[in-house]
Amino acid sequence: MLYSEKVMDHFRNPRNVGEIPDADGIGEVGNAKCGDIMKMYLKIDDDIITDVKFETFGCGSAIATSSMATELIKGKPVSKAMELSNQAVVEALDGLPAYKLHCSVLAEQAVKAAVKDYYDKNGIAYDPELFADDDDDEHGHE
Ligand SMILES: [Zn+2]
Repeated sequence: MLYSEKVMDHFRNPRNVGEIPDADGIGEVGNAKCGDIMKMYLKIDDDIITDVKFETFGCGSAIATSSMATELIKGKPVSKAMELSNQAVVEALDGLPAYKLHCSVLAEQAVKAAVKDYYDKNGIAYDPELFADDDDDEHGHE
């Protein structure tokens, strides 16, 4: 079986789909490989992610990882969301085929982009290093 049951479940019944009209942070990222586009909305109260929704136009893996990523960060402090790695998302899904891993990177990037947007909108100081794009090597190989 190419995809785990959890991947299929999150692909067929994605959690937290939609948009948050008054989101505190919005992150949009994409990859050229399968043309996935992922938009992540965060509602943040007192440094806690009280709501999160996503819209993903893309392959099944992109949808499943977006869905799982929202489940992993909902109700968590912003700092926890910043620690979310694509590896953690993939593990929570019981794995992804290697050639689909770049889709899981999008979920991590979308969450971080949304947090950065939240920081920028609220004038919250942050270390730019947190958002430095160090994922290039993960895209490169194939
Ligand atoms: Zn993809």
